[in-house]
Amino acid sequence: MDFRIIRWLNENGLNFIDVIVEQLQNKPFNLFEFLRTHHVLEAGWVGNDPKACRMLVNWIVFLFNEIWKLKGAKMEETLMIVDGHVGEVFCRSGLLEQVLYEKSRPYIIQASKMRASVEEIVSESGKIPFYVDNGAFYLFEDGFCTDLSPNCLNCPISGICKKYKKWTAYQKWEE
Ligand code: SF4
Repeated sequence: MDFRIIRWLNENGLNFIDVIVEQLQNKPFNLFEFLRTHHVLEAGWVGNDPKACRMLVNWIVFLFNEIWKLKGAKMEETLMIVDGHVGEVFCRSGLLEQVLYEKSRPYIIQASKMRASVEEIVSESGKIPFYVDNGAFYLFEDGFCTDLSPNCLNCPISGICKKYKKWTAYQKWEE
């Protein structure tokens, strides 16, 4: 964020919270689109990175709901961030019917291209996307669903996962 946003808010008689509240009255996705396309964030990394922008929107919705107890978008309307590790869990589990992957580096998935499909699956499940994304990410972070040596035996979702382990987030799987 740079001084242009302060100037823009000042010229329009707004403050940043009011802008967020207005956008959230529609849907979190609208706030995402606003932040992604508005020059409010163009100078920083958040506005240019869809994952970071989605994460920011989710944290704003979380603050409104769980901390400030204000009316706004529901947690069920948060967004799926889907970095490589989260995408990897969805591919390995078998939840995604079609896996998109880099042709030049076999088995390395293209998570960003599958984000919409992942989001649809989670939306149909009725679960809270922010928590699903976080849970899937921690399967990697906690040492279960790592790229090259997944610990399926002790993984919390082992019972429902198809274990298509060849799909990886960043490292090349050797058969
Ligand atoms: S069961 Fe194995 S492949 Fe499936 S999510 Fe867990 S660690 Fe990954």
